[in-house]
Amino acid sequence: MEETIGVTSGTALPANGGRHDGNLLDHAVHYVKDRNWEVLPGTWIEGTGQAFWCSCGVLECDAPGAHPVRRDWTAHTTGSATVARRAWSQEPRAAILLPTGRTFDVIDVPETAGCLALARMERLGTVLGPVSGSPYGRMQFYVLPGGAVKMPGLVRRLGWAPGGLDLTVRGEGDYVAAPPTVTGTRGRVLWVRGPSARNRWLPDVEELVGPLAYACAQDA
Ligand SMILES: [Zn+2]
Repeated sequence: MEETIGVTSGTALPANGGRHDGNLLDHAVHYVKDRNWEVLPGTWIEGTGQAFWCSCGVLECDAPGAHPVRRDWTAHTTGSATVARRAWSQEPRAAILLPTGRTFDVIDVPETAGCLALARMERLGTVLGPVSGSPYGRMQFYVLPGGAVKMPGLVRRLGWAPGGLDLTVRGEGDYVAAPPTVTGTRGRVLWVRGPSARNRWLPDVEELVGPLAYACAQDA
């Protein structure tokens, strides 16, 4: 399977951060060891082809294969590679969920706006963190924690109503599905810019909000 994310501006690279397999265990352990990210095994997709369902058993599940198994999930994340290895050995299909608001927040925008902003920011040499893309047409920009709190004020200062743009920030108490999690029938969450030594230091939300908000407004 060709693992690239659909783009309109030609900016995205092969989107899996150089790790070409869909082995969730390896990726989960890598995130813990290499980035000190906490991980949480989530639900998974059962069945194949047209006959598929989320392991939660809810027919109309709105995030099939990509949400926590339990309500009190915040207490069940792990920063231990051993625990992660055990969890994904037991269920190799489990989504890799990363809690936001701890070591990073995530700005979530439509893919078209995200690609546009990414191209601009790279041209300007903006410091970027990892960027992921979901198969449902969204992109996630990883920034320093605290972004969710600052965002409404920043957007307002730029002249937009905070609710007026299709731009959200996931912070404390929330999570994001990390590559190569499979969601629904459309495929995997992929890295557009994978975690690397170059983006170990994350940007502040302030550095990305301008280009992202502008691209979202153009895209709307
Ligand atoms: Zn579900």
